[in-house]
Amino acid sequence: MRVLVTGGAGFLGSHLCEHLLARGDEVICMDNFLTGSPGNVEHLMDRPAFRLIETDLTGFVHVPGSLDLILHLASAASPVDYLRYPIDTLKVGSLGTLHALGLAKEKRARFVLTSTSEVYGDPLEHPQSETYWGNVNPVGPRSVYDEAKRFAESLATAYRNAADTDTAIVRIFNTYGPRMRPYDGRAIPTFIRQALSGEPITVTGDGSQTRSICYVDDTVAGILALADSDFAGPVNIGNPAEVTMLELAHTIRDLTGSSSPIVFVPRPTDDPAVRRPNTDLAASRLGWQATVRAAEGLGRTIDWFTARLQRPEELTRS
Ligand code: NAD
Repeated sequence: MRVLVTGGAGFLGSHLCEHLLARGDEVICMDNFLTGSPGNVEHLMDRPAFRLIETDLTGFVHVPGSLDLILHLASAASPVDYLRYPIDTLKVGSLGTLHALGLAKEKRARFVLTSTSEVYGDPLEHPQSETYWGNVNPVGPRSVYDEAKRFAESLATAYRNAADTDTAIVRIFNTYGPRMRPYDGRAIPTFIRQALSGEPITVTGDGSQTRSICYVDDTVAGILALADSDFAGPVNIGNPAEVTMLELAHTIRDLTGSSSPIVFVPRPTDDPAVRRPNTDLAASRLGWQATVRAAEGLGRTIDWFTARLQRPEELTRS
């Protein structure tokens, strides 16, 4: 297959590019490096089946030749990033998604939108099933991301229903692994960086809020299972094992052998209290479920951060 990965130089996108190449696909990686970096795909550059194109998806987008599949990941994804780039986030979710869908229609390619558990907002239903419509504050600070993704879901659905385009939606829950940026503000890279450098581990609120954390290889397998199916979704991809932020901080401190103290800092506005996917649909329609246990996935991630943080320049990088 000839596959376009938008946002392919980001955390998740770079892992997807790797997996696609490993199974013999030709990969075009398109990115403007807003929150990703060419360094994430540097190791793929000498592969004949891989091509990196620097493009802002909100502008004119052209891909020569045919395409069988478009995996649309382009978007800032961490709260620190989308609060720093609120307009860019809304633009890539709306205009960028429109342009990616236009390409899918033109090339007769299957299109997969990587949506997010954030479409459920601060959920009033727990765990969250795909039938839940969500609880999002449309003018809260997080809305730039949540509402952009909700709009993108609506666009993908409209193209499916009214523009004869084969679209699908995956709602990804918190994913972690190598190549997350140490300062991207998400809990796992923050806790690991703090634990490895002996700084206090900063837990927000009282740490009782929960997340369900999924190792990147599992998430990639779920996205590809949807891409390879004829299912439209939306479908949740995530690991239903739920942890509190305080438990996560303790686990990371233990796994790193750190003696960092755990301290409590204020919780961000509209931060969801709970988050856990119902993954029955992924199991029944895609035969998918998460398999990597937290201790194993966190161990691999800590190993990667340990190697990276030995280079002092990484400690100052945003
Ligand atoms: P990331 O920030 O590492 O990757 C996003 C990539 O998109 C970056 O490389 C960035 O430079 C690129 N990008 C942003 N705006 C662009 C534009 N206008 N044109 C071209 N490229 C652009 O984030 P990630 O964690 O890898 O997330 C990837 C996708 O998966 C996002 O769409 C995100 O919403 C979704 N997702 C991720 C998670 C997670 O836990 N990582 C959870 C839910 C959903």
